[in-house]
Amino acid sequence: MANTPLRYRPHHFLCSLGFQGKGYSDVFTANMAHIVEDRLRAPGGDDVEIEVLGATDDICAPCPKRRGTLCTAQDKIATLDTRHARALGLFVGTRLTWGDAKQRIRANVPPGALSQLCAGCQWLELGLCETALKKLHESA
Ligand code: SF4
Repeated sequence: MANTPLRYRPHHFLCSLGFQGKGYSDVFTANMAHIVEDRLRAPGGDDVEIEVLGATDDICAPCPKRRGTLCTAQDKIATLDTRHARALGLFVGTRLTWGDAKQRIRANVPPGALSQLCAGCQWLELGLCETALKKLHESA
């Protein structure tokens, strides 16, 4: 449903900013592309509402690493969520638009910050997320 709020765990806001078609499986990537490209990056995407969850979310749903509401890499994922929630001022139950989320990222996550904020993530070394973060700041 186009108007249904998305449900995101805290670290998936920045993952969505940096998404460039890579993921853990074809089904995972297709689902994330649908959410990010067809909703958040589509016209009017800044108005899409997102509710913060403390467990697996709409991005995690088809992930091969999901085990119920947990992840095979649960400790690492929980650490990422804690860091990102603190950086962006997010709590379970927070509702905000994608446009508001990008403002929070601009205000709280300077270029270069992902090496610490996302330490442990396998996608960090590709540099795609840091490039997207830099572009977000340049577009302000
Ligand atoms: S480096 Fe990993 S955790 Fe950080 S924004 Fe990119 S995909 Fe998400």
